[in-house]
Amino acid sequence: MKYVDEYRDGTLVRRYAERIRATVTRPWTIMEICGGQTHTIVKYGLDAFLPEGLTLVHGPGCPVCVTPLEMIDKALAIAARPDILFASFGDMLRVPGSGKDLLTVKAEGGMVRIVYSPLDAVALARRHPDKQVVFFAVGFETTAPATAMAVRQAKRLGLKNFSILCAHVLVPPAIDALLSSPANRVQAFLAAGHVCTVMGCEAYRPLAARHRVPIIVTGFEPVDLLQGVWLAVRQLEAGRAEVENQYARAVRPEGNRQARRLLEDLFEPVDRAWRGIGVIPKSGYRLRNAFAGYDAERRFETAGVGAQESSLCIAGLVLQGVKKPQDCPAFGVSCTPERPLGAPMVSSEGACAAYHRYRSYSIVSPSFPSPLAGEGRGGG
Ligand code: SF4
Repeated sequence: MKYVDEYRDGTLVRRYAERIRATVTRPWTIMEICGGQTHTIVKYGLDAFLPEGLTLVHGPGCPVCVTPLEMIDKALAIAARPDILFASFGDMLRVPGSGKDLLTVKAEGGMVRIVYSPLDAVALARRHPDKQVVFFAVGFETTAPATAMAVRQAKRLGLKNFSILCAHVLVPPAIDALLSSPANRVQAFLAAGHVCTVMGCEAYRPLAARHRVPIIVTGFEPVDLLQGVWLAVRQLEAGRAEVENQYARAVRPEGNRQARRLLEDLFEPVDRAWRGIGVIPKSGYRLRNAFAGYDAERRFETAGVGAQESSLCIAGLVLQGVKKPQDCPAFGVSCTPERPLGAPMVSSEGACAAYHRYRSYSIVSPSFPSPLAGEGRGGG
């Protein structure tokens, strides 16, 4: 296949659905890690194609959703300072902190700018030498290399007015933590393909072996996801627990060596809190000491920032696959995309936002007028 449309081909979707139905003999629970994968599943109603007892649960792979409240509050405190020009991706602006969000800070006079790349923030620093520019660096291993490039570029240019508030997180430690939890019910993972384009597949092999779970590196289109599910159930039914690469058109086993070297040079792994989940050992990046001058947490006083989650929000359980968004009493009632209580309702990759946006399509997508439509068990 050459074009993205071919990965949305209803005939192929049905073919993989039939393979899954022919393979499955008992109940299984599979987690897709990435919020982009969750959106595809909910948007196209892919879960409706699965046989009874085969359950897809949604994982913590939305970087906006897992950025801890404490970090959002630090961002708010830094962004409110009169000497700061705070640069952030757009979807972080409406993520609620304890009291407000970045959009409110902007409305109150804070200099908050939306950027599309960390290098845009470097450009801002060059244009505004009288301001300290702080970039809110959020994302998984996928986006971390661009942040590393920006810091390296700032150093090369000798910029003294650029730094990052680093909230980058790493996927393999999160999978490890989920599988080690007593509440875990996940028996196989669809790993996020884009993360593996950078990091490769090797980091997953020890996890698959230690926890006895299949891990399928999977893409983001409907055919990718159903093929990934089929590969997972094929392993589960055969009692195998291996790493397989469904997304071979983009992922090499070793990943992107140049990007990995860049990450290694600039960052070190540190313990990091995940929103709703808690601290996961060695699951975040921090700039190495040689780049400490570009670390906003070390440059600007943010200690003592308190964090108070909404007592109604069950995002932690949603992000661990224990609950689905509609299980939350606030879903669509006191929590909506217009007035979100938690990050999964804000982010374009959040599971709650996906269910809210696409729930009317969750039985079977009109994109796939399929003979399976009558056989599907219906989605959420
Ligand atoms: S629906 Fe809203 S309150 Fe409930 S878990 Fe999702 S983000 Fe939190």
